[in-house]
Amino acid sequence: MAGDPYSGSEAKLDAFINAAVDAIIIADDKGCIEVFSRSAEKIFGYLEEELIGKNLKTIMPPAYKASHDGYIANYRATGQPKIIGLGRLVKAQRKDGSVFPIELSVGEAKTSEGVHYIGIIRDVSERMAAEKEKTALLKKNQAILASIPDLIVELSVDNKVVWANQKALDFFGSSFEGSCFITLFVGNKEVQHHFEAMMIAKTNPINPESIEHWHSDQQGEKRLLVWHSQAIDDDGGNTTGVIVVGRDKTADFQADVDLKKAESEARDHRDKLAHVARLSTLGEMAASIAHEVNQPLTAISTYAQASRRLLSLSDTKTEVISDTLQKISDQAQRAGDIIHRMRKFVKYKSSMMERVDVNELIAEVLRLMEPDINSNNIELEHRLFQHLVFVSVDPVQIQQVVLNLIRNAIESIDSIASDTSTDSSNSRKIILQAQVTSVSDIEISVTDSGIGVEEGLTGELFNPFFTTKSTGLGMGLSICQSIIVAHRGELKYCPNPTGGAIFYFTLPLALEVNESEVEDV
Ligand code: ADP
Repeated sequence: MAGDPYSGSEAKLDAFINAAVDAIIIADDKGCIEVFSRSAEKIFGYLEEELIGKNLKTIMPPAYKASHDGYIANYRATGQPKIIGLGRLVKAQRKDGSVFPIELSVGEAKTSEGVHYIGIIRDVSERMAAEKEKTALLKKNQAILASIPDLIVELSVDNKVVWANQKALDFFGSSFEGSCFITLFVGNKEVQHHFEAMMIAKTNPINPESIEHWHSDQQGEKRLLVWHSQAIDDDGGNTTGVIVVGRDKTADFQADVDLKKAESEARDHRDKLAHVARLSTLGEMAASIAHEVNQPLTAISTYAQASRRLLSLSDTKTEVISDTLQKISDQAQRAGDIIHRMRKFVKYKSSMMERVDVNELIAEVLRLMEPDINSNNIELEHRLFQHLVFVSVDPVQIQQVVLNLIRNAIESIDSIASDTSTDSSNSRKIILQAQVTSVSDIEISVTDSGIGVEEGLTGELFNPFFTTKSTGLGMGLSICQSIIVAHRGELKYCPNPTGGAIFYFTLPLALEVNESEVEDV
């Protein structure tokens, strides 16, 4: 230690000054440095001998230098300290010119040699940097919390609202902070129980399950909230509070409702359209169906006349009459079946899925189409399943699709016959085939030997109102497609390599097939 401002235990004082963690600088009444401790050397980067006798301004940044002499002069003249005995946060300058923050406290010692100023300096640059970082982090967290659309609430273990983000305050009102959280849900026992149970658990994670409920906001609007919670634990693992986060799911809920409504409307629309199309198709088939009904009616009439004749004969055996009456009954049944099938086909009902056997489904359509097929002199080959195969479908709608495809096939074959440029001796054949195409799907195809589809028109086949027929509506294939899509299948076209068209569609197999159901027919 250079200089000799002290008297008495100089060695002890030196040891004390140099052992101090904080820097100690002693200056005379003119501000010239007399003592510069080891810590001061470390903090400022100067050696003591470099500074002894130099003015304190040497270790001050330019902004402080100018006013320093004035401070000392003012203190000496007025006795009013600016810093002495007070302690302040100021800036200092290292030997390398860098400026850094220090905490400075200054004391004054009056000795026989005059006045000495003792400065104790703590380098607070690290602390300040940490504080700055903490403030930045805090600001960042605040920005994150402000940008989150959720309601975030911190609860004490006794269920008081300790803190809430702006979204939660907006939702529950400004008096929310400090209130008892559970009492907000008076009237909703389930929610109260949930939060009570969460508080009782008091282990991390506190009640990881969520709860969903409706709650009115400040504007009285009912909102759907979903709450999740997370415990806050101290270093010892003790729960000191809980963060509960509420998400407003009203928009999702509304979108779900709207979607379901739109889906239901689309389904109704499709059902109605399909129904109108069935009515129209049956209207087109009226002539051949009338012919088909006429046959049993004619037979009934013939058998009735025969019965009358038999009754007028005295020796007629009752078994013969009974036999004839049975024939009348059979024919009436046949006519009744045709009417029943027609009524079933045109009856309007909202689509309803049933688990049905594919072969039975197709057989029913073929019975309905028989008159049409026969009257058009078509050979129909069916390649169906050898065992029961089930699909979950609206049977009438799928029958409508098959019927439509077969009718189009008949018309296409017919148009060959009426087309004089084509050889009308071509076979008039339709193949109806059902096959399993994957573990989850079946495919039904209708192959005809008709006129086929012009290559440039294939892209338009399924468009509504596309038709090449003079009396066509062009809605058949488009409705068929929407029915198949609604059944999670696909309806497609490809040309028949031997001439004509192939229309085919897929359907998912029904789940849960009992072993007993898969048997040979
Ligand atoms: P429409 O029968 O009223 O014309 P569709 O939607 O059932 O309406 O058929 C649209 C068009 O698709 C038909 O006009 C025809 O050009 C073509 N088409 C449908 N099926 C066949 C087929 N089997 N062979 C050839 N063309 C077909």
